[in-house]
Amino acid sequence: MTPIQRQIKEIQAGLPAHVRLVAVSKFHPIEALEEAYATGQRIFGESKVQEMTAKYEALPKDIEWHFIGHLQTNKIKYMAPYVALIHGVDSWKLLSEINKQAHKAGRIIPCLLQIHIAQEETKFGFSMDECKQMLDEGLWKDLKNIQIAGVMGMATNTDDLATIQAEFKTLASFFHEMKNRHFKDIPTFKEISMGMSDDYPWAIQAGSTLVRIGSKIFGERHY
Ligand SMILES: *Cc1c(COP(=O)(O)O)cnc(C)c1O
Repeated sequence: MTPIQRQIKEIQAGLPAHVRLVAVSKFHPIEALEEAYATGQRIFGESKVQEMTAKYEALPKDIEWHFIGHLQTNKIKYMAPYVALIHGVDSWKLLSEINKQAHKAGRIIPCLLQIHIAQEETKFGFSMDECKQMLDEGLWKDLKNIQIAGVMGMATNTDDLATIQAEFKTLASFFHEMKNRHFKDIPTFKEISMGMSDDYPWAIQAGSTLVRIGSKIFGERHY
């Protein structure tokens, strides 16, 4: 077993049954993904559309490609034919543009609404109020080629455990509030994407269903 394979096995072994691992392979070469694939890993996360598309073309077609980066509208068309889940949707404009490109590709693309839960100013995402407002307006129901599959968030990059735990709890409560308000009868609204290499145990504790883990599996990234 290679170090990558050992890490994947160890992380997978510790995940509860309802939590799926997104192996964040951004900036790592095809060979690293092949090693992970050989252990049975089938979900990979990428943050650049061009890089993800090149990997999609090179690797087996039973891989689920998750886009986890910040999305530019002019790039959506390149991944619309194959992307399995877009994690970081943080505006109405992006949602409607994804819908348009999904329609052209003849698909329904699952999307997560990114919510700003961290203290840092720089992180992307809807505020909870903005997101609530968008869902209350209800126009998203007319977007027939996207499926809102849940929420995504990133905790503050800090050693303060209490802060991290509070932020994950905030995101989980927001998910449940929106579930009750708008998605009660929609079983596909089910994902809480939270937790990275340094904080995923606490994300799981708070109810994560998708953990996005990169450096703990693949090592340092070389940009
Ligand atoms: C890079 C990235 C990750 C993975 O981060 P690690 O700390 O390497 O596990 C997770 N989520 C998002 C949105 C990322 O951009």
